[in-house]
Amino acid sequence: MKVCTKCGESKELSGFYRNRATLDGLQYVCKECSRAAAQDWKAENRTPTHNSWRSMRERCNNPSHENYPSYGKRGIAVCERWDSFENFLQDMGTRPDGHTIDRIDVNGDYEPGNCSWATNEEQQRNRRDTAWFDLGVLGEIPRIAFKPEGTNPRTFSGRLERGWTLEEAITGIKGISCPIQERAMSTSC
Ligand SMILES: [Zn+2]
Repeated sequence: MKVCTKCGESKELSGFYRNRATLDGLQYVCKECSRAAAQDWKAENRTPTHNSWRSMRERCNNPSHENYPSYGKRGIAVCERWDSFENFLQDMGTRPDGHTIDRIDVNGDYEPGNCSWATNEEQQRNRRDTAWFDLGVLGEIPRIAFKPEGTNPRTFSGRLERGWTLEEAITGIKGISCPIQERAMSTSC
């Protein structure tokens, strides 16, 4: 007889699977507990949410993943908090049907605040509204910031060349100093 470390029941030796790594050559947990654990593991690892979490980590961390060049190689990372699937699940909730992870700032990391579940359609719309202008050394700012004034990017870069601040160039107002993020959200500064 042997006691299962999981359920605590005393069982016949035939009630345990073999395991060469242990002293008695048998697993610590009984067959029933072992099967139950395998079922749980499979159930958890087959959910859409877990699949998303796993492939997100693969494309950022695994250089041999087919999408690594568009993610990990570009410096896009998964935040430390999301090393844990439980934390990811807590922050994102379960993945709704037909949704994938959308990053609000496409050059930003996978982290709370920059990610949401979105359909393909929603993602396309987000891309259009927040397409990013590449400003070279100045970095990138979202197109949405231009919307209130309808500033065209060429006018914008002209202003920067004349020494205007980023805020001034976006708003077209000399001397303005409100943060870009807030400005992008509202038309009144
Ligand atoms: Zn057991």
